[in-house]
Parts: sequence; structure tokens; C-alpha cells
Amino acid sequence: MIDYSKMLSDKIVNIKPSGIRKFFDLLNEAKDVVGLTVGQPDFPTPWHISEKAIQSIEKNKTFYTPNSGLVPLREAICAYLDRRFKLKYEPSNEVIVTVGGSEALDVSLRALINPGDEVILPLPAFVCYEPIIELCGGKPVIINTKVENKFRLTAAELKAAITDKTKLLVLPFPNNPTGAILDEKDLAEIAEVLRPTNIAVLSDEIYAELTYGRHHVSIASFEGMRERTIIASGFSKAYAMTGWRLGYIAAPREITEQIYKIHQYGIMCAPTASQFAGIEAMEAGDEDIEYMKSQYNRRRMMLLDGLRTLGFECFEPEGAFYLFPKVTDERMTSEVFCEKLLHEGGVAIVPGTAFGDCGEGFARISYAYSMQHIEQALERMEKFLKNM
Ligand code: PMP
Repeated sequence: MIDYSKMLSDKIVNIKPSGIRKFFDLLNEAKDVVGLTVGQPDFPTPWHISEKAIQSIEKNKTFYTPNSGLVPLREAICAYLDRRFKLKYEPSNEVIVTVGGSEALDVSLRALINPGDEVILPLPAFVCYEPIIELCGGKPVIINTKVENKFRLTAAELKAAITDKTKLLVLPFPNNPTGAILDEKDLAEIAEVLRPTNIAVLSDEIYAELTYGRHHVSIASFEGMRERTIIASGFSKAYAMTGWRLGYIAAPREITEQIYKIHQYGIMCAPTASQFAGIEAMEAGDEDIEYMKSQYNRRRMMLLDGLRTLGFECFEPEGAFYLFPKVTDERMTSEVFCEKLLHEGGVAIVPGTAFGDCGEGFARISYAYSMQHIEQALERMEKFLKNM
């Protein structure tokens, strides 16, 4: 008899599976459900982008690319970062093209964390940071962001969390699941706290293009920050390219040199056809972003109005494509509320606790869905609440 407990890595066995997955499994079993759960655009990839990948295959450009990615893609990423966010990076040694933003986050964390290092992580946040920090032997130091601060990380909270073991701050804004952003003032105050320290920043800017009413600002654009910041980003959200698995890192050469090794040994290079599509997205995708963003914005306002009319308290988030309303109180957990809404109301949303304990009382509702779909969900929620 094989003893799997001896066969497998303790570190892996002790990692909890994602709370999102658990809810999606429930969802798969349920029938006649209107879901507002998914964290991906409902738009198809703009055709002029897809076409470039198809053409590359037709021309038999089906070989490995350089490990860091096609040179024209790295150049296009640098031109894009400069054009959109006034960030200057050198294509030859400060950019690595990755398999989605997911790989960008994974290899960045692995390149920085030594066992015992403390990593400051504001929650609620996307589910991957905490388990990867733990796999690296790091210690996540959680900051529970607060609804009264619109789920922003404050400089005071950051300052209070820093110890002499702090290695890294993960900065997940615009935020999944809350939709919170950090504006220039927030970032300036955070930069001031970090400037005298040796703490690095992993800034997950995958939703940078999806902000409403204001332009995204990167922490790397503040004095003393570029040299300590790794920007992790990707094509999934802004260009509706989740399935292409394309992302990138931009960071100082001293950091990318180390990240490069993990990427080279583990991945080789991002998919070649996707990289050709990526060049087109970076060079000619600005209008697509504008169009999709304007649609998300209409949906955001409709869903926000709808939820408030139903009596939910919800702050107006300025980024990504999620709302994070308060759905329940001490009488019921978020998870129970979401299960009831699923089984009795036929609407699926994700309990806030899937993104950290401080998500208790809240739920993530995605508006990356058509207006009709959102309307139908709101109608069902109204009925459900009446019967509850
Ligand atoms: N960061 C955040 C905040 C996300 O929400 C996601 C996907 N949901 C990712 C990174 C990873 O996206 P991808 O690997 O598709 O680029």
C-alpha cells in the first residue's frame, strides 16, 4: 500500500484549496442559475488581435521565442507602459513576458522571498498571493482593509504592519474582489512610508486599464519606488484575452535577472502565437479597451443602482469589474447567504470570505456580463429577498 502522506510535499498538502473553487463546484451542480461569479470579460478577443496569432501560425512561426518574449512584444510593452502610465522600462532587460499575470505573480514572489520573510498582504484580495507566499516559506502579514476606507490600504495600516522582517508589500490594486483603487494621494503616502526602507513592492496592475472616472497611477511612478517595484500585469482583463495566457513583468534589471531564471527553467517562454497577438493588443488595442470599459461602466452603474434599490449597502468601486456589497449581518455568514441565494433564488455570487476572512458579511458580484443578464439576476434577487 502506498502511503501518499509520505509521498507528497507537506508544504503542498497543507495549502488550502481556493475558496472560489469550492463555490464553483456548488454552482456546477445547481440548475437554472443566473451567475454573476466570473472574473473574466464576456467580450470576445478583438478580432484584429486574434488574427495576428492566426497569421503567425499560417506562417509557421510556431517555435520557441526568446525566454523573455519576442523582442517586438517587449518593445511594444515598454512603449505601452510609457504611453499609458508614463513608466519607462528597457525592453532588453527589464521586461519578461509570462504565462498570464498568474505566472508573473508566482515567479516574482519566488524570486524575492526567503523562508521566514514577512510579506505584507492587504485583504480581501485575489486568491493566489497567500498560498504562494506560504509555499516560499514566507509569512503573510495580513492587513484587513476596511469598508469605511473603501477597502483602500492606508499608509497608517502599512506602517503599523512593518517589522524588521518585512521583505515585501503586495499591492493588489485595482482590487479583485472589492473594486477598490488607490489614488495618487494614497500612493504618495504609501511611498513615503516605504522610501526609507528596503521593502520591495509587488504591484499587481492587471486591472490598471479598468478604472472609472480616473486614470490609473502606478506606485512605480513615485520617487524612490521604481527601483523597488515589480509590476505584474497581463492581457486577460483589458483585452478580453484570458485564454491566451499572456502577461508580463516590468522591474529593474537586478530583479528581472533573478526572476528570469525561474521563468527560464520552469516555463521556457509564453505561447508564441499568443505573443504575436499581444504585439497587436499593445500597439493597436487602446480603442478596444475604451469600448469595453464604457460597457463595463454602464453595467457597473446599473448593478450598483439595482443593489442599492434592493437595500444593499455598497460603496461605489472605481476599478476592475466587481461590486462588493454588504449582503448579510451577524445572523448569517456570507457563505450561507450565498448558498441560500443560489439554491432558493437561482442567482450565484461569490462569498466575500473566499478572498480573506475580512470579506465576511460581503459578497463579490461581477458585472462582466450583459445588461440583460444583470437585469435578470436583479429581478431574481428581489424575489428572493421578498421571500426571505
Ligand atoms: N491578478 C488578479 C488581481 C486577478 O484577478 C487575476 C485573474 N483573476 C490575475 C492576476 C491572473 O490573471 P491571468 O493569469 O489570467 O493574467
